[in-house]
Amino acid sequence: MERRSIVWFRSDLRLHDNQALVEAVHSSDCIVAVYVFDTRVFEGTTSYGFKKTGVHRARFIKEAVRALREDLRERGGELIVRVGHPEVEIYELARKLRTSWVFCNRERTSEEVFVQDQLEKKLWSIGQEIRFERGKMLLYTQDLPFPITHAPDQFATFKKETEHFVRIRSPFAIPQIKTLDCDVECGDLPMLSDFGHDNFGLSEDSEFVRGGEQIGMERMKNYFINYVESAGGESHMHTHLSPWVSQGCLSPKSIYHHMMINSNDEFFNSTSPVVQSLLWRDYYRLMGKKYKELVFFKDGPQQMKMMGLNDRIDRASNWLEGKTGVPIIDACMSQLRLTGYLEHKGRVLLANFLVREMEVNWIIGAELFESLLLDYDPCSNYGNWNHVAGVGVDTTHEKVISFAHQEKKLDPDGSYSEKWLSLAKDLQY
Ligand SMILES: Cc1cc2nc3c(=O)[nH]c(=O)nc-3n(C[C@H](O)[C@H](O)[C@H](O)COP(=O)(O)OP(=O)(O)OC[C@H]3O[C@@H](n4cnc5c(N)ncnc54)[C@H](O)[C@@H]3O)c2cc1C
Repeated sequence: MERRSIVWFRSDLRLHDNQALVEAVHSSDCIVAVYVFDTRVFEGTTSYGFKKTGVHRARFIKEAVRALREDLRERGGELIVRVGHPEVEIYELARKLRTSWVFCNRERTSEEVFVQDQLEKKLWSIGQEIRFERGKMLLYTQDLPFPITHAPDQFATFKKETEHFVRIRSPFAIPQIKTLDCDVECGDLPMLSDFGHDNFGLSEDSEFVRGGEQIGMERMKNYFINYVESAGGESHMHTHLSPWVSQGCLSPKSIYHHMMINSNDEFFNSTSPVVQSLLWRDYYRLMGKKYKELVFFKDGPQQMKMMGLNDRIDRASNWLEGKTGVPIIDACMSQLRLTGYLEHKGRVLLANFLVREMEVNWIIGAELFESLLLDYDPCSNYGNWNHVAGVGVDTTHEKVISFAHQEKKLDPDGSYSEKWLSLAKDLQY
């Protein structure tokens, strides 16, 4: 009997360096590729009532799914798309198509784990199994010199114990894919209006409009070319690749290997800023694994009683609406709302302002970021908020002492604030 497997694409919307895809192809005669728009994620709201997936990310993911489908079609395959609950939709497909396994890359945060656990139980009832693979991080957990439970709490220690000692594995090549020829509907991509996005409010200025593996690859290559041409100039310290990394259009390993293979060693090595940033990402994922749901609670992994912070959302309304009267803060909020993106320093400023100046519960800010960010990732978002709020286990918080000083540093001629404040004028929240 022909061995068939489902490959369940999640936040790994790519064909290259996709371990679940590679293992499925190796273990089966043919595969069925599936993506499910989970209505809890696309239509649901956070505890403070923000839409879980705002319009920018919804559009970005839809584009990435469309691109994945096109890439599979170019290879003679197909991507089956469903809207609903993955544990129901994938189970139905597995039952109907009599597959043997469902392959996916394992997620570690509570909502995602709930879904994969439910699916696993349902598959057992029809004699099938989930096979979990890996590939979210730059480093593999099994290559680390410590067990997860003993992962260092301080980033500096984590970095010291890993950066020169743990080999970064090579990315997987795209396998030869043979898709099952079956008569199930491939399914249309949903409209953004299906998820309640009637006012798209998308700025022409948004440079992050297109998700997808190929566009992510192009941007990565251009980044490295520009970096070398500018001789490692300050303006190229950041890649702006996080939306593609978060949705899995690009893998951290492929960024690393592209950097090491194609670039001039004068600028790139394992201590370059890009690698350091990717290590921060791994660190927050490890803290998510180690401290689980504590990362999402007000008192954080440190279990610090955050008595001083106000839980009422109305106390945050000026911040939420970009009307604090502090130009740099309001401009940052405007950019975030209009594009779904904000540079790291802007995020640190916004977060510090909410927690230290307004003394409001950081969860409100984290949930707003969850809704708005194109690059939202549970561990990176809540981990960074833990850090700023001072409830994370790494106690070297990023405190912003003087906002006026920061404004001068970040926006010396005021042009950034002017631009984003003027674009925000007609914005309705
Ligand atoms: C309050 C707050 C919330 C944040 N929420 C998120 C989030 O939901 N998703 C997210 O990807 N990043 C988040 N960050 C981290 C960081 O701001 C972004 O990753 C960064 O701005 C992306 O820009 P870049 O691609 O140019 O990064 P680069 O500097 O080029 O770094 C390369 C890659 O490393 C990763 N990275 C860099 N810095 C960090 C960091 N501090 N933590 C985790 N990963 C990092 C990203 O994947 C990034 O693309 C948050 C930061 C703060 C302060």
